[in-house]
Amino acid sequence: MKLIKALANLGHGSRRQVALMFREGRVTDAAGEVLYADDQPAWEDVRVDGEPLDPPPGLVLMLHKPVGHTCSTKDRGRLVYDLLPPRFALRSPVLSTVGRLDRETSGLLLMTDDGQLLHRIISPKSKLPKVYEATLAGPLRGDEAAIFASGTLMLDSETTPLLPAELDVVSPTLARLTLHEGRYHQVRRMFAAVGNHVLALHRSQVGGLSLGDLPEGQWRILDAADRDRIF
Ligand code: URA
Repeated sequence: MKLIKALANLGHGSRRQVALMFREGRVTDAAGEVLYADDQPAWEDVRVDGEPLDPPPGLVLMLHKPVGHTCSTKDRGRLVYDLLPPRFALRSPVLSTVGRLDRETSGLLLMTDDGQLLHRIISPKSKLPKVYEATLAGPLRGDEAAIFASGTLMLDSETTPLLPAELDVVSPTLARLTLHEGRYHQVRRMFAAVGNHVLALHRSQVGGLSLGDLPEGQWRILDAADRDRIF
């Protein structure tokens, strides 16, 4: 692919704007030599304003989503995209969230421009475990784990029962819940179905991948080992 198109696809601007960047000498090689639009250097060898290029298509990143940001691309409030460099919102192919977390939910959110990977993760067939920590308004009754594991719990306005889910009680008002599907507001609705209310919700794990010590509001690009951990 022509360098000019590659930089436009990375969100550095329209082709016209990227052409101007070349004329201004802002695109160089690693040694600082100015590159021209029809040069064909290795990806790792290109710098824009002295910075290496973002990864090419096939990018997967994880974000530690804070409460208060939505997974939408256009919303009047704060977006998860606001936590990334602005050019990430302009990448082609587009960078999408892998499923969604509610505005009031924090934790591990994957984002990718790899449509196949996205579908593999969110497909109902994948049954990939997702682990949530829920802080509850009232103490657990004691029968929730059996109800959630039964595979018979039906949520309001749904036509099929939920898949079995595993509940670990951490304290009377803190529970760890592992789901194998992703329905709308699922964790909050499950606790509402057993007479409780979720005060705070955090996702710590998707498949075998954990947030680790990634600080809230920060992101990092996944390497091959991280990706293998997902499935
Ligand atoms: N379940 C919810 O209720 N909210 C989320 O954000 C994720 C799962």
